Amino acid sequence: MNGLAEAAGSFALTRWVSRKSRADFERWQAAALRRFLDRDLPRAPFYGMAPARLSDLPVTEKALLMARFEDFNIHHLTAAQAWAALAGEGRAGPLTVGASTGTSGNRGLFVISEAEKYRWLGAILAKAVPDLLWRGMRVAVILPQNTGLYDSARKSRLIRLAFFDLASGPESWRGALEAFEPTVIIAPPKMLRHFASEGFRLRPKRVFSAAETLDPVDRPVIEDFFRLPLDQIYMATEGLFAVTCRQGGLHLAEDSVFFEFELAGEGLVTPLVTTFRRRTQIMARYRMNDLLRLSEAPCRCGSPLRCVDEIVGRMDDVFRLASPDGPVLVTPDVLRNAVLKADRRIDDFRLVQTGPDKVELSLPPTFADDAAAAAHEAVQALLDARQAVATVTLVRAPLPLETGRKLRRVEARLERAR
Ligand SMILES: [Zn+2]
Repeated sequence: MNGLAEAAGSFALTRWVSRKSRADFERWQAAALRRFLDRDLPRAPFYGMAPARLSDLPVTEKALLMARFEDFNIHHLTAAQAWAALAGEGRAGPLTVGASTGTSGNRGLFVISEAEKYRWLGAILAKAVPDLLWRGMRVAVILPQNTGLYDSARKSRLIRLAFFDLASGPESWRGALEAFEPTVIIAPPKMLRHFASEGFRLRPKRVFSAAETLDPVDRPVIEDFFRLPLDQIYMATEGLFAVTCRQGGLHLAEDSVFFEFELAGEGLVTPLVTTFRRRTQIMARYRMNDLLRLSEAPCRCGSPLRCVDEIVGRMDDVFRLASPDGPVLVTPDVLRNAVLKADRRIDDFRLVQTGPDKVELSLPPTFADDAAAAAHEAVQALLDARQAVATVTLVRAPLPLETGRKLRRVEARLERAR
């Protein structure tokens, strides 16, 4: 396998597809999806044969994919073998194994081939930094763990790539990061915001938020500090799902993923994804946990790939409350807006559903008491208006930078019966 050829081929394909009309693109995508269903999907024991239509396949979820890991990859690698590989170098023979962060028991595993790793690199470069590529880039990646996905980039001469471990904390690598002088920074929004508040000496040409939902409250702080528009890379264990274009549109990666959407209420959808260009681990009609708001209008850049207005949060973080008329669901964006709109001085908070009828709002003691009171009232008023039976408690406490887990300002921390 020639890695550079794979990356270059994927780069070229990604650019080529982005110049098609929507109609041409859909024809290309339908043919690629059909090929995947006929040739690749049946090689996973879970499927065994090609379906007449994609919609004939069952919807899959993380619990199923993890419970029957060996039936969803073509090498019959078991979850136990994958975890063992992960504890070592992250290699299982020629395959790379990775996992998402998360609470134990809730981590997602993935396995990809060398060729797929290079194709992934080519696609992400074509989407994120096609104009910077030929000028030599220094890319700083600050993510929860080094997944092995980036090894391919490290071997390329066009890119210098440095990985900084989110979990070990910024104090331990601040000097090294500043000395590296990255031209591209990829990091979770909380870390980008930390760079801003601590005045890190950084002058990148492009900054990407990744690995966590970008909360609108963080965007202006980060953009003011770097004096750049903040772009997003939306990826998960399951693959690369969306990247911001040069016109600021967050385009779904429909050139490698077929998306179906389930309505989640309030104008939001949750995606079912079929990753039709991955052949090692087969993922079809996989239900993601994310809540998206799709754009109505196409992007000015002319790409046929659909745009997302916002990644609102996770389905897990929808508040589920009781009311006299039955269950009430309140989505994270609505809850967030209630807090932020209550007072302009509020730019950080935590709102957690801690029990079936209990909600806790935490605000740092540095915020004025009247601002905190207004936010407290606003959340209670929102839930009352929905007839939800819930008491909101206000907690005044500092909000520390947590590097060991994903930041979720709105979170449902209920143990749910399955
Ligand atoms: Zn665009």
